[in-house]
Amino acid sequence: MRIPFVAGNWKMNLSVDEAVAFLDDIKGKLPDPKVTETCIAASPLFLESMIKHNADSPLIIAAENCFYEDTGAYTGETSPAALNEMGVTHVIIGHSERRKYFNETDDIINKKVHAAFRNHLTPIICCDETMSRRQSADRISWVVSQVTNALKSVTSDQAKTIILAYEPSWAIGSGKTASTDEAEEGCYLIRQTIADLYSDDIANQIRVLYGGSVNDENADDIMAQTDIDGVLAGGASLKPDSFLNLANFLQ
Ligand code: 13P
Repeated sequence: MRIPFVAGNWKMNLSVDEAVAFLDDIKGKLPDPKVTETCIAASPLFLESMIKHNADSPLIIAAENCFYEDTGAYTGETSPAALNEMGVTHVIIGHSERRKYFNETDDIINKKVHAAFRNHLTPIICCDETMSRRQSADRISWVVSQVTNALKSVTSDQAKTIILAYEPSWAIGSGKTASTDEAEEGCYLIRQTIADLYSDDIANQIRVLYGGSVNDENADDIMAQTDIDGVLAGGASLKPDSFLNLANFLQ
């Protein structure tokens, strides 16, 4: 049985004070993590305050990104070693906005996945799909290649722990959610790729999320799909009430 995983990605939104107020608002209202795991990924500027405010809460605090080296002359980058030292346990890697605005390639993403493992961080690896890719003949191989390249030299033991997300950029921030069939198809494809790379057993263990204009009205249908184990929500994670509605979908 895979435990559902409901994650919010705040991107470059909110302020430190708003982040802390959000945590106060949701305190005591999150599901038992044995039923649903919940997670918020936030700016590195917020993480220390959030971790302090999150004591005794089941909420997982994640980073939205990290660099692939632990230390060194990399001005402005976020060290995965420092994230681990702060108490961060999860990190989003390869979000489509990182691919698009910061030119992150599959090779960089693969290095970041290894950096995450080296520093005891669970990677939440995103697979993008643009509309032109979706409409092209190599649609399937595009998703497969992102998963395959992100996981180069990742061992079976490591692969068991990863979380993957199908996040078609044509559905992100657009209000145009993928249909449940489209979301299921993307997540199924990712799971099959894991089966091909590792084993059916590992493919059945890992959580695959859908992200792209998820909200508290469409989340139930999305999460009811066989290969979808949760969501990665952007806009709908910014308000405590809508995040709680997503988090408590099984209640
Ligand atoms: P929206 O839910 O705002 O479309 O963002 C999705 C996303 O990019 C989550 O990582």
